[in-house]
This record gives sequence, C-alpha cells and structure tokens, in this order.
Amino acid sequence: MTRSLDAALVWFRRDLRADDQAALYHALKVARRVWCLFVLDREILDPLLARGLGADRRVEFIVDSLAELDAQLAALAPGARLIVQHGPATQVVPRLARALHVQAVYANHDDDPAALTRDARVRGALADAGIAFHTSKDHVVFERSELLTTGGPPYSVFTPYKKAWLARLEPFYLQAYPVARYADALAPLPEGLAGGPPTLTAIGFQPTNLHALRLPTGSSGAQTLLADFLQRIDDYAATRDFPAVKGPSYLSVHVRFGTVSIRRLAREAHARMQAGSPGAAAWLGELIWRDFFHQVLHHHPHVAAGAFRPAFDAIRWEHGKHADDAFAAWCAGRTGYPLVDAAMAQINQTGYMHNRLRMVAASFLVKDLGIDWRRGEAWFADHLIDHDLAANNGGWQWAASTGCDAQPWFRIFNPQTQSRRFDPQGRFIRRYLPQLAALPDALIHAPWLASEADLAAAGVTLGTDYPRPIVDHDSARAKTLARYGAVKDLSSS
Ligand code: FAD
Repeated sequence: MTRSLDAALVWFRRDLRADDQAALYHALKVARRVWCLFVLDREILDPLLARGLGADRRVEFIVDSLAELDAQLAALAPGARLIVQHGPATQVVPRLARALHVQAVYANHDDDPAALTRDARVRGALADAGIAFHTSKDHVVFERSELLTTGGPPYSVFTPYKKAWLARLEPFYLQAYPVARYADALAPLPEGLAGGPPTLTAIGFQPTNLHALRLPTGSSGAQTLLADFLQRIDDYAATRDFPAVKGPSYLSVHVRFGTVSIRRLAREAHARMQAGSPGAAAWLGELIWRDFFHQVLHHHPHVAAGAFRPAFDAIRWEHGKHADDAFAAWCAGRTGYPLVDAAMAQINQTGYMHNRLRMVAASFLVKDLGIDWRRGEAWFADHLIDHDLAANNGGWQWAASTGCDAQPWFRIFNPQTQSRRFDPQGRFIRRYLPQLAALPDALIHAPWLASEADLAAAGVTLGTDYPRPIVDHDSARAKTLARYGAVKDLSSS
C-alpha cells in the first residue's frame, strides 16, 4: 500500500475508541506514521474546578476510558500508545504537531459552538505551520446539511426529518471503518513523552462514586451494556417510560464520549427493526432524535443561548429570592413532589436521569416554578454524566415549549399524574426517597394528601422527613398559562 504522507496526528475528542473511528481510519490510510493524542483541555476543565466541580464523574469516565484506549492502541501495533496531555488544546495540538513534524492532524467533527471556535483557532495555528487539519463526520449518522427539506431549508419538525432519515439510510452510512486493517501505521510513542492518562489527582480532580455505581467505562464497558440491552431491545417501546424498570440502554455516556460507534448502534437497531421489532424501531427513533438535535444546533447555533423561536425570549420568568429558593429546592430534590424529588436524587447520586424523569423535572422547573429553562439546562450540563449540548438543549427547549418541534406551551405536565402513570407502585420513588417507603402506593405520589394517621403509620412527618409542596400545581398552571399567554405572537403557536 502506498501512503502519501510521512506522518500524521490523530486528535481524539468525543470518539474514545480504536475501532470504527473515522479520523483514525483516514489518518492510518494516508500516513506512514500515525500518533494518537487526547488533550485534557484546561479550557474545559479549569472552569469546572472553578465552579467547585472537582469531583466530576465525566472526568473520571474519560480518564478511565483513555486508559482503555491506550491499551487498545498498544494491542493494535507494537509500541503504539495514546499520548495524553493536560493543557489548553488550542496550544497543545499545534505544538505537538510541530514537534512531531506531522503534515496533517485528523479529528472528527464536534459541532458544539465552543468546539467550533476552538477548532478554528487550532486550524489557524496549524495552517501557520503549514500543517493541514482534516475533520470528518463520526459522531452522528447524518450531520449538518446532509438531510435538508425538499425546498432546501433544514428540518424543524421531527417526523418528516425521521422519514427522510430512514429513506436516505443505506448500508454505506452504517458501515464500520476498518481501522485494524491499516493499524501497521500506528507509530511507537515518541521519546520523551509518556503514554496513557495521568491520574485524576494529577489534573486537580478527585475520584467520584463512578466505580461504586458499577458503570462500566471504555469500549469494553459500552460492549457490556450493549450486549445486555440487545437482549431487551424488543421490549424497549413498552418499558422505556417506566423509570423503575430496566427499559433503556443506559448507553448515553458511551454515546456521548464515543466509546461505542453510533454506526454500530444504528446498525443493530435497524437490522432488528427490519426484522419486525417495535422496540428496536422505537430505539432507532431515539438515535434519530439525537441526529435531529445535532442538526438543529448546527443550523441554529443561537439555541445555545436563547429560544429556538426568539419570540419566547420575551417570557418573563420568576426571579429574585423566591425564585432562587425554589431553584435551590429543585436542585436538591426538596420540592415536595416525590417523583420530581426522586428524579433529582437520581441525578445527584448517579449523574444519570431517566428520560421520562428529565421531561418531568424540566417541565416542573419551567412550568410549575416559572424558572427560566436556561437555569435548568445549565444545571443539567454540570451534573449529567452524559451531558450533550445538542440533546440537553433540545430536551429543555422541548419541555419549555421554546424549541424546535417542542410540546405546545399550553400543555403542562401534572407531576402527580405523571407519577401515578409512570411509577404506579412508587417503586422508583421508594428507591430514591426511602423516607417515604412505608406510604401506601396510593399516597406516595402526593404525601400532602395523606391523613395524619396515614402519615403517622408510615413514620413520615411532613416538613421534617419530607417537605410539603413548595408550589400548588393548579395555581402554578394558571400562572404559567398567563406567563406564556402574555407574550405577543405566541397565542397562535
Ligand atoms: P436510551 O433510551 O437507551 O436511548 C439511546 C440513546 O439515544 C441515548 O443514549 C441517547 O444518545 C439517544 N437519545 C435518546 N433520547 C434522546 C433524545 N430525546 N434526544 C437526543 N438523543 C436521545 N441526552 C443526552 O444524551 N445528553 C443530554 O444532556 C440530555 N439531556 C436531556 C435533557 C432533557 C430535559 C431531556 C428531556 C432529555 C435529555 N436527553 C439527553 C435525552 C434522553 O433523556 C437521554 O438521551 C436518555 O435518557 C439517556 O439514557 P439511555 O442511554 O438509557 O437512553
């Protein structure tokens, strides 16, 4: 095989695997010597430390997964290792590329606005040194402008987008990149550089409860979760909405950091869908939502700061001390609504929240407490292990009715009804709010409706063991309808 470049550098970001990895494949195919780099980017990490997030499950997940990636590279070619550097990526990447005398740097697309700015700076610095910067699609099945409406503009409604997505799908789009076939180009670790990640403490972070949670990390962890989910995928449509049931895949953190290829996941789901599995069809639908939100962010980057439909930016949210107190109660899971509080306990204890509960908790913050969705979005961004700007923003704007194909603003979840419907026996609530465990099923969704005798029998003192509701849902609903209704141009939307 003739390769046209002498040397290249692959810069890993949200693609922490050595199989079916687009950038790695492209570099190995064209360069005779390829080094692999991950940057623990201080421009991302230092602000976390400054906000007091020194114990961050994501950082631990990344460090663990880097160790596995390092081992995978070593297994592919003798002496090959993952170079891991701690510093600002905008400086580290050009500096290392120059020091190694590579002709090109390869990476996969990352369309978050901050990542695009970073990449533009890296591209400029590399160009100054005469080094090319090649980027590829890897993180989604269809990206950017690959799927547009017949008239040209991007899709803003999910159902036709999904239809177009499925119609365009051919085996080509789900094919794996055969990295191993070209792995002989992986070069040994250059002298003077250490291979593999540093310890968490060496970069200023502390261990979290990640290992106690037994969330498997790295590509092997993704394979374990996927194998388990594929046994259950047929039931997904029926089980996915019930947080007490093991219905979803729990793969989101792996999808986020690319320890599994999205092509692999879509391939598995698509094949089963074609074989008639409604569960697989529903799950593929979720992967398509993910692509949908990524293309929304690409075409409408203003959503990162404001409403998809700017008219909604005129909404007057609650502010001041009472709003700050309500927000603090929501964050801590002290709203007095058990399903909301159990959801917040789940994210606080694990960094994960079930999808149904993300909708319930987000809706409660925005439509029961009247708080700006961006405060909730930012809080999720700091606490979700699977935080992904496009999906999180899409989810929050859906719940707040400000987004692209969101739920109508006059539709307001009743947290008690959601609780009775999706956690009928209160199993999820009992798991996360053990202080309510002895309440009968009928009362666990709304302890404030329980009689003194029932509360006493369950050993619950409202206001001491568990809060009274911080807001009355019916009055909150009326206030929200007025809040949205007061905004001109919304009445018809
Ligand atoms: P599964 O049900 O097994 O779904 C499989 C995969 O599909 C997920 O891992 C995820 O990659 C993707 N997916 C599923 N639902 C969605 C969706 N609605 N939008 C986009 N992708 C989806 N998802 C994130 O990955 N990161 C986030 O930061 C995030 N924030 C959210 C915030 C709110 C307010 C809401 C309502 C939803 C959010 N979601 C987010 C979407 C969804 O809740 C999670 O993807 C899902 O709960 C992850 O669990 P799972 O892997 O078990 O999901």
